[in-house]
Amino acid sequence: MDTKILDGTQAAAVNEAAELLKMGQLVAFPTETVYGLGAYALNKEAVRGIYQAKGRPSDNPLIVHICQKEQLTDLISELPPLAETLMEKFWPGPLTLIFPKGEQVPAEITGGLDTVAVRMPNHPVALALLEACALPIAAPSANRSGKPSPTLAAHVLHDLNGRIAAVVDGGAAEVGLESTVLDITQTVPVILRPGGITKEQLEEVVGQVELATPHGDKKETPRAPGMKYTHYAPEAPVIICQAQDLEKELQEKINSFTGKLGLMLSNETLAKLKIPKTATVVDLGSQNNLANIAANLFAALRTLDEAEVEIIYTEAFPHTQIGSAVMNRLSKAAGVEEKEVIK
Ligand code: AMP
Ligand code: MG
Repeated sequence: MDTKILDGTQAAAVNEAAELLKMGQLVAFPTETVYGLGAYALNKEAVRGIYQAKGRPSDNPLIVHICQKEQLTDLISELPPLAETLMEKFWPGPLTLIFPKGEQVPAEITGGLDTVAVRMPNHPVALALLEACALPIAAPSANRSGKPSPTLAAHVLHDLNGRIAAVVDGGAAEVGLESTVLDITQTVPVILRPGGITKEQLEEVVGQVELATPHGDKKETPRAPGMKYTHYAPEAPVIICQAQDLEKELQEKINSFTGKLGLMLSNETLAKLKIPKTATVVDLGSQNNLANIAANLFAALRTLDEAEVEIIYTEAFPHTQIGSAVMNRLSKAAGVEEKEVIK
């Protein structure tokens, strides 16, 4: 299959993408978080295609994307008390809400759970596409399972060229990290995955919000099933440095490493290091602009992959605001428990 590249700024191209979705084809499209791999959510065959194209485990449920609240009627069985307030404040935007699922929603979407995840993306191309097809669209991140999520159409093509019908190009994803997943079927809402909307922002609107504790036992059923799998992992091992004496520790590591070195650091840290010319260096931006660090993170991991580095040294960022989502993704990329790298 040839994967078509469609220009998201052209109405005719967006309509063509909508027609492909209506026919049950797979179409990747830009959102404000990362690029999603879309399929018509109520078409089981189409949804199975997503798992196949990504190589995604079938018990990792998908987020359904909508452009109007009215579309919820076909997807959920009940509107939890906090839903209206949260949708009013954060939709369209990077907040996924977990609802009790409606009868029509296939088990392929929910990984067999009795809940369904839904969000309204805040991106003009995503919204235009959802309006043009007038269907709920299931869309996980448009990467091969386990790899960093795509923030550019080129990343999607790198992973899925020939496996999907089309990709709609809409430039760089602004947030750069996936949505926050919030379970509102509980009395106190629980963040299952930190993301584009912070705990602080949610608490301002609905009061107390809990953060799901990472499960220790792999056999136990996690509340966000997808989070138990390896995620965001480049080929090279990722080491997160968080010593008090960060620059000294990093400099020692850099000096003693003899292979192909990759660095992914803030510009403040980079400025203090002596870096060999042979190293591949990605500047994540300023420590004082965590949103910018978030936006650059996945592309940085992919750049270092392309350079075929043998190790990646990076640094810990504060667990405040979007920093907690950054540290969640970095810890997963490094394959370590988040609590081991709290700054
Ligand atoms: P991705 O589509 O790659 O952004 O991943 C979707 C995330 O949403 C995964 O971590 C899933 O585990 C989570 N998710 C989707 N549906 C549900 C659900 N019904 N209950 C809990 N978590 C969900
Ligand atoms: Mg994903």
